[in-house]
Amino acid sequence: MIMELKTEDEEGRQRALDRYEVLDTQEEKPFETVVNLVQNTLNVPMCAVSLIDRDRQWFKARRGLGVRETPRDISFCTHAIKHGEPLVVNDATQHPTFKDNPLVTGDPHIRAYLGIPLMTPDGYNVGSLCAIDDKPREFPAHEVNILASFAKIVIDQLELRQIAASDPLTGCLSRRAWVEKAEEEIKRAHRYDRALSVAIMDIDRFKNVNDTYGHPEGDKVIKLLAEVAEAEIRDQDGFGRYGGEEFVCLMPETALNEAESVAERIRHAFSDRETETAKGDTLSCTVSVGVAELTDFETLDSVLTRADAALYEAKNGGRNCVVCNGTTNADVKVEA
Ligand code: GH3
Ligand code: MG
Ligand code: MG
Repeated sequence: MIMELKTEDEEGRQRALDRYEVLDTQEEKPFETVVNLVQNTLNVPMCAVSLIDRDRQWFKARRGLGVRETPRDISFCTHAIKHGEPLVVNDATQHPTFKDNPLVTGDPHIRAYLGIPLMTPDGYNVGSLCAIDDKPREFPAHEVNILASFAKIVIDQLELRQIAASDPLTGCLSRRAWVEKAEEEIKRAHRYDRALSVAIMDIDRFKNVNDTYGHPEGDKVIKLLAEVAEAEIRDQDGFGRYGGEEFVCLMPETALNEAESVAERIRHAFSDRETETAKGDTLSCTVSVGVAELTDFETLDSVLTRADAALYEAKNGGRNCVVCNGTTNADVKVEA
């Protein structure tokens, strides 16, 4: 099936890009490999995986380009994504659209440009893979084909990256994506001296659910906990499946007492809800939660270990409760 190119649907295009959750992320190997290959096979001094955000182009990977982003209105890639076709410019100084462009008249003095739109499987051009020269040149058909193949790899990689980030059963963050987000947020919390808390939760007596009603009914309960928790947390929080019936919640800008309230809300909301089994029985479960607040210089492993110790206490204390690990900065400050 030939996909209709949705160039007129700017809002849809932006949503398609936002779904990848890739803007302003760190360098990642597959994209670095692609730009290396483009540079070497097409023999260009500059190339980039350029993503077109609302009003800027942002480079997920780049070679030979000093800046990480430029305004959208001066970007060549904005023009590349308007057409379903590769955009070829042999000498920008002679090109009516580009001859006065500041990227041509000034740094990095673009002369030749080849850009292949990065089209999502549902037909949105979210950016382009481009090869750039500071000297005029031709891009023969075989080079256009090579760059088009690399552009397909870039889109596949964006898709795979998105699949790996979400848990297939619940749709919440996968363990890997949660850990990545947590590491980032912890760095930020340390840098700006902000509070951050984590919670670990585990469904109570869940083995009984599986044993009594079967695995698919157990799965419904797991999905319900994710749904309930996602509804209780804020946008900046991150809810992830840590494994089995165990979930983790990352709460940036949140001190222990506030995090405890969030955990209590999730615990209450979950115990209030039921799932209906295929046989028509109703089933309700509870969850135990351990919470800990990040202390100065602490790592993710360490704060998670303390939250896990609190969860262990919650289980031993009779389940269906929230326990906070009491360690705070006051306990870890070393006397001068
Ligand atoms: P506790 O209150 O101490 O947590 O008791 P529990 O029975 O929940 O503890 P345990 O960790 O021993 O059992 C967890 C069970 O969760 C065992 C495992 O078979 C089940 N489980 C893990 N992943 C899944 C899943 O994806 N779906 C279903 N249905 N069950 C799962
Ligand atoms: Mg468990
Ligand atoms: Mg359990």
